[in-house]
Amino acid sequence: MYTMRPAEFTYHRPLSLDEAVGLLDEDTRPLAGGHSLIPLLKFRLSRPRALVDLGGIEGLGGISENGGGLTIGALATHTAVVDSELVQSKCPVLAETVTQVGDVQVRNRGTIGGSVAHADPSADYPTVLKALGATVTATGSNGERQIAADDLFVGIFTTSLGPRELITSVSVPSTESGTGAAYVKHRHPASFYAVVGVAAVVTVESGACTRARVTVGGVTSPPVHATAACEALVGGPGSAEAIAAAAAKVPEAIPNATSDSYASGEYRTHLAEVLAGRALALAFERAGSG
Ligand code: FAD
Repeated sequence: MYTMRPAEFTYHRPLSLDEAVGLLDEDTRPLAGGHSLIPLLKFRLSRPRALVDLGGIEGLGGISENGGGLTIGALATHTAVVDSELVQSKCPVLAETVTQVGDVQVRNRGTIGGSVAHADPSADYPTVLKALGATVTATGSNGERQIAADDLFVGIFTTSLGPRELITSVSVPSTESGTGAAYVKHRHPASFYAVVGVAAVVTVESGACTRARVTVGGVTSPPVHATAACEALVGGPGSAEAIAAAAAKVPEAIPNATSDSYASGEYRTHLAEVLAGRALALAFERAGSG
């Protein structure tokens, strides 16, 4: 029967990371903002024996500078990321991305750690974090390890995290001068999740593109790098013609685009090309002439 009431579970609210890790096993789930987990519990798509609420652990929500890049605590809410002056100055594309997540309520409760761990194929963070070459720090009973975003997202709602591991922070590397980045999304009108979201990061030196990354989310799981599009850009100018030619190569990266009741794979593929063109144009504009 459809009840909208979760199955019974035990609720833990540890006050330290060690305590939280000690409570985790295959049948427990960490709880952060609850904006993805609570609906799963209510629909009984997830029936854990216990929840481990991370909200009582101090020091997991800070945002700090790290060798020119940024380290963002797992419990930093989407709003905290958008409002952070450090994020706005060091990695404005992250703020640009997160402004487009859900609505105010979702942004006030949802966390970067929860979004990354949930690995929703339509989420925004995974796409931009892959484009930026971000790294996630995870802590488990065997200590701490770093996981590149490219290795973390492995499939639909699936990461390479172990059941006894918690994400404690997300780090974004510093960007070279002459780098511009943008995230452009076509959002579902009801949920606001990305039907397609494209992140572009380019570096320009003396008028020529020296590095390009275009990452497409919402179309496959996990998000993918459009490698041929990037290769087409390197060595040339970020002209309108070069951008259009590169964007035209984006469909090569997404041969098995997702089809669902909202958008066919064909439509998503078309959107990916169009949005890649827009994201690249913005990224080159922001990079300047190098
Ligand atoms: P929770 O719901 O608490 O947890 C999610 C999952 O991650 C659970 O499996 C939990 O066990 C695990 N988890 C949580 N924290 C950790 C951790 N530190 N380490 C390991 N595992 C952990 N997202 C978008 O990207 N774009 C959107 O447009 C968007 N729109 C939304 C609209 C609505 C109406 C709603 C309800 C959600 C939307 N979201 C969107 C999702 C939102 O961003 C969620 O906040 C996010 O997916 C999960 O974060 P959370 O902190 O709420 O995590």
